[in-house]
This record gives sequence, C-alpha cells and structure tokens, in this order.
Amino acid sequence: MKSGVDWEGRKRKAAWTVVGDSGSDADSGRGQQKWRGRWLVRRQPGRERLGVRPVAGVLPGGDEPRGVTVRNVTSGATEFTCNAYLVEGTVPALVDAGAMSGVVSEIQRHVDELDRVVLTHQHGDHVAELDAVLDAFDAELYAAGNHPRRTEALADGDTIQLGDDSYDVVTTPGHADDHVSLVGETAVFSGDVFVYDDGAFDDGSFGRTDMPGQSREKLIESLERLSARLPASAARLYAGHGSVFDAADHAESLQSVLDRALERAERREPKYPDG
Ligand SMILES: [Zn+2]
Repeated sequence: MKSGVDWEGRKRKAAWTVVGDSGSDADSGRGQQKWRGRWLVRRQPGRERLGVRPVAGVLPGGDEPRGVTVRNVTSGATEFTCNAYLVEGTVPALVDAGAMSGVVSEIQRHVDELDRVVLTHQHGDHVAELDAVLDAFDAELYAAGNHPRRTEALADGDTIQLGDDSYDVVTTPGHADDHVSLVGETAVFSGDVFVYDDGAFDDGSFGRTDMPGQSREKLIESLERLSARLPASAARLYAGHGSVFDAADHAESLQSVLDRALERAERREPKYPDG
C-alpha cells in the first residue's frame, strides 16, 4: 500500500502565462462551470495548451483570490451518471468515478497523473467507471465503505488532500450508509446528500431516502452535521448531481442553501410525491 502522504514528493505545479483576461465569466470549455478568470497558456514539460486558470472562490470581504481548478469530467455524458470531479493541483484527485464511458480519456485530457480517487458513496452511477479509472492510473482509492480495490479507509474527522487544499471527511449517511462528504475551507464535495438543484428542488435539495436501506432521519442528522462543520468561508458546492453552486454568483451563502435543504428534508414529505 502506498503511503497517504507520498504526494509531498511529487509536486508538479504547472507554470502559467497570462495571455488575456476574460472581461466577464469565461466558460471552462465543457459547459456547466463558469469561472471568473484569466485566459492563460499552461506550460508543462511536453505539453502546452490554452486553458482557463480560474480565480474562483473570491469571497466577499476581500479574501485573496485562490486558483482552484475543479472540473466536472462527466458533464458531456449522454448516459446517466453522477458528476465526477477532477481536482487539479499538487494532488490530482477524482471525486467519484461516475458512469460515463470515456471518462478516462476525458481525465487524461487534463492531467498526466491521478494520485487518488475518493468515493462519496458506492451507488452504481458513482462507481460504474471506477475500475476503468483505477486501471488507467496509479491511483489510491479512498472510500468509507468496503471495496476490493480500496487502499485507504475514510472515517469521520479524517483530513484528505485534494488538489492544493485539504478537506475534512464528514460522515453523512441517510442516502447511503457509507456516504461521506468532503468539507474544505472554500469548497464542499457533498455527493448525493446535499445538492443545489435537481428535479425536486432548484435551490437547496437533498438525496432521496425512499429506497430500501435509506433513512430520512439519518439524512437530516447528516445535513445538521454538515451545517455544524461548514466553515463560513465555504462558498462552492460540488454535488453529485445538478449544477455547481458558487456563492459568488448568487445573492446568498452556501450556508443558507444548506439551511433550506435541511428545512425541506425536515418536512419529512416524500421528495418525489409521485415517485
Ligand atoms: Zn447515490
């Protein structure tokens, strides 16, 4: 088993050269995620390409802009899949593998190496392409639930590095027993426990709990736990389904979206009345 900290020896930050500014939001190229950023040429040994270095997470109050590159690598899928997020930086990581055939080549368009894959939970739409991803990269597999290819078990309170940032592991069962969320200073990966929009709600929703083994009561506790552990600086939500929420694009905070999702879950009404 590889050490969990061997990434420290593998820093390989790309050099970026500014070639222009986007006056307004720039599209990262695959839709869905908008970045306020600068157009830059990325120069790495053996490759050179135009990209957007996002200056995302510019928080009200004058915080330093931070370059955080997170891509939904399944945004072009035609089949049903979760959102799978590639986090670039010091520790290239993938949050959920998704179910899009061809996700491996999409990942390879952006990174040479993948250090780790982290699973929020193991429903089929999150893991269907996991074997293909692990076969293609020398990546560790982090998951809370058992998995034959798991190299690291995740538990509540663990800290894990994704890209250039560290995230706290928060256990969030209810939609799935083994569900975890990853809470960072500026961003949250929430899997299916907390999503911004879906077919049921458009501005604060939560995972279904009507299937065998699921529990609305556990999910409510999970949303409360997430709320208690959410830093005020957390502004972006990368959920397993639906669109990315960035408080910088909205008139409300991520905390208030989470509060709304919790309030809706606490009604204890069926999420899908006809489902
Ligand atoms: Zn799920």
